Amino acid sequence: MTTITIAKGDGIGPEIMDATLQVMKAAGAAVHMEEIEIGEKVYLRGNSAGIDPSAWESLRKNRVFLKAPITTPQGGGFKSLNVTTRKVLGLYANVRPCVAYHPYVPTLHPKMDVVIIRENEEDLYGGIEHQQTDEVIQCLKLISRPGTEKIIRYAFEFAKAYNRKKVSCFTKDNIMKMTDGLFHKVFDEVGKEYPEIEKEHWIIDIGAARLADTPEIFDVIVLPNLYGDILSDVAAQITGSVGLAGSANIGDGFAMFEAIHGSAPTIAGQNKANPSGLLLAAVQMLIHIGQKEVAEKIHNAWLRTLEDGIHTADIFKEGLSKECRGTAEFAQAVIDRLGMKPKELPEAQYTGSLSSISVTITPQPLAVKELDGVDIFIHAKGILPDDLATKLQSANSAYLELIMITNRGTKVWPNGFPETFCTDHWRCRFKRKTTASINYQQVIALMQSIFASGLDIIKSENLYLFNGLPAYSAGQGQ
Ligand code: NAD
Repeated sequence: MTTITIAKGDGIGPEIMDATLQVMKAAGAAVHMEEIEIGEKVYLRGNSAGIDPSAWESLRKNRVFLKAPITTPQGGGFKSLNVTTRKVLGLYANVRPCVAYHPYVPTLHPKMDVVIIRENEEDLYGGIEHQQTDEVIQCLKLISRPGTEKIIRYAFEFAKAYNRKKVSCFTKDNIMKMTDGLFHKVFDEVGKEYPEIEKEHWIIDIGAARLADTPEIFDVIVLPNLYGDILSDVAAQITGSVGLAGSANIGDGFAMFEAIHGSAPTIAGQNKANPSGLLLAAVQMLIHIGQKEVAEKIHNAWLRTLEDGIHTADIFKEGLSKECRGTAEFAQAVIDRLGMKPKELPEAQYTGSLSSISVTITPQPLAVKELDGVDIFIHAKGILPDDLATKLQSANSAYLELIMITNRGTKVWPNGFPETFCTDHWRCRFKRKTTASINYQQVIALMQSIFASGLDIIKSENLYLFNGLPAYSAGQGQ
């Protein structure tokens, strides 16, 4: 008997969790459940994290979590509990298989069998946002080398363990050359260690278009967090319904299993939701805790239910489906088929768990880091770039001088175009005057002098050379 933590969540969560637990019980899962309350009710009683300390205790003790979707209230400082859980517990890999069940579930992509492996801890999901001026708000996109290496290695190890032939990587490194560029670079580096696996990189826009149009050309896809979040919904939906896909969030010694969809409030409480996503997540959970036979029994009964044309409303199609069932009745149909195998669809047979894949990070030597200048961000409304430059140049020192001003990343000084639309948010780049070393004291002196001129400094970013190479982006049009 293994003790796991469960949460019934919000919206359709309680219905799909009850359906899942009934199937698990009928299949003979040897699981003791500890239920915690998380989500909307916890948020609305004033806990902005959506989870109480006692719930963390249960999670940290049991280290296995089966979670129904929750509703994150919009705005108001509420942080997404899903993101917090994944990050606090170090669940770095989010594995989302998206499979077509042709000809039993209507889909335009009968041969689709794609596994999305989404980086789960960083990227824009740090949720580090600041309003800096009246007009401009920023969100920090953080991509780390160890975080990237972990997810890329996980993707290749997954492909190896599951006999997958190809790993594709999607990024937007033609624009974000440093952050997405790192993801791409590590993909190329790590990929060399897997000569038997085919690998390719796609710019995310065309990659996404091809995934939506011809998903059968893909096998395993590894992506940074935001792209993975968006494209796994697309991938699941084009198999027939977003309600069909389950996911596993894997960390070192900890795992959380959930459907990929959200709490679908518009259909909550109507016994309409498809419980399949959570049920397939529970199948992965059972494999994780060593109950492979129960997992296979449930998965195969579920496949047989689909084959028998017993469908929930989201995948029901007149002429193809036989019966449109509610959430609870669909679960009963799966229970009625426990012990049966699918007739046509490939039988589910598991060899190992997603959590048995472990990765180690290659230690990297520390680089030689050298201060090369500073970007100082100024809040100023209605000023012309040339006038701003004149004011800033009066702060030039013996060490640092103004070389460029950009607005929303586009160079507006020197030699800007009057056509470029400018907001009240200016990045002013000062670089060292000679190759002689500079220090942060000289940057502070420069900032004091700018402050004394009456300009409103919002923030600064140091410009560094790493191992002698510039480690900061150029201005657009520079
Ligand atoms: P959603 O995934 O909840 O639902 C979108 C639509 O997809 C629904 O209206 C419904 O038509 C369909 N759908 C989703 N799941 C289904 C199922 N099991 N069966 C049948 N149809 C299904 O997305 P949303 O409406 O954008 O988000 C609702 C809430 O869920 C938000 O508060 C969001 O923050 C939250 N959310 C939670 C998670 C999570 O807990 N992991 C994930 C995504 C969104």
